[in-house]
Amino acid sequence: MLADFLAWTLAGERPKEGHTQGVCANGVRWTWLDEGMLQFEPDAPPGACSMLASAGVHGDETAPIELLSRLVADIAEGRATLACRLLVILGNVAAMRASCRYLDDDLNRLFSGRHAQLPDSRETPRAVALERAAVQFFGAAAATEASSTRWHIDLHTAIRASVFERFALLPYAGAPLSRAMFEWLGEAQIAAVLLHTTKANTYSHFTAEQCGAQACTLELGKVRPFGQNDLTRFSGADSALRQLLAGPAHTASERAPLPRVFTVIDQITKQSDAFELLVAADVPNFTAFAKDTLLARDTDYRYIVQHDEERIVFPNPTVKPGLRAGLLVIETTRETLAALA
Ligand SMILES: [Zn+2]
Repeated sequence: MLADFLAWTLAGERPKEGHTQGVCANGVRWTWLDEGMLQFEPDAPPGACSMLASAGVHGDETAPIELLSRLVADIAEGRATLACRLLVILGNVAAMRASCRYLDDDLNRLFSGRHAQLPDSRETPRAVALERAAVQFFGAAAATEASSTRWHIDLHTAIRASVFERFALLPYAGAPLSRAMFEWLGEAQIAAVLLHTTKANTYSHFTAEQCGAQACTLELGKVRPFGQNDLTRFSGADSALRQLLAGPAHTASERAPLPRVFTVIDQITKQSDAFELLVAADVPNFTAFAKDTLLARDTDYRYIVQHDEERIVFPNPTVKPGLRAGLLVIETTRETLAALA
């Protein structure tokens, strides 16, 4: 199981009765919790961090899933040092088997109670299981640990090209933004951070809000089938994750530059089937537009750029009427980095 957790999980294997726990290299205890969920506990000093590392919440985003599976093998063999409690989650296993993003509904839009509105969705039981796993994992840590030691890194790859190949999305949880998170994102070679300003139904929003975790969603490049990923493109995030897990003694001596920061200021909303998004179909994420540019129109709706420069992220004119057809962000690097806690 630990040697190739991905293949083992895709094959639908489960541990035999009474064999859901064990000890691997360096005395690290492992516990199989559920399909695609493995917990590791080293003999860590009090105050060591608790890390939830998830991938495959979108089933076809294969590269980060492969990274986590390799991390599991390396911990099992003692090739990766573990000074933190770690919960590894492969999110949407059924969709991973079907090589698709999701079966019925986007799992990363079902958290924080949204799943209760879709009782028949094949993703709903998985959203419930992922929420429960996070609550139990961080709940067990809460008695001895400060919230600054609770982390959730949710690894994704994007469908669309991006001006910044690797970027992070930070949920809006009301808490001050942490310098530790921004420094870690720099180490992970994340070029840009997008700050949400409203609540969402993503897994990282759930763990930030409900578990007090420092949570982020990472977009690490383009989607490819299993086995066809150039994992070196993801090496920054991989090594930064391993450094964090290895503990303070293993952090880099020289700090990487902090990422640029962009804050959501508005969204384009599709009103009707007459909606037109006036940007190229393959426009990269974070493409900038100048003031007064008309970006979208519908019957009596116009979206015109109001700031000197606005950038479009996740444009999608094919959504249903009433839904978001794109986000607009402006750069807020200086004020955000100056205000980090
Ligand atoms: Zn994704």
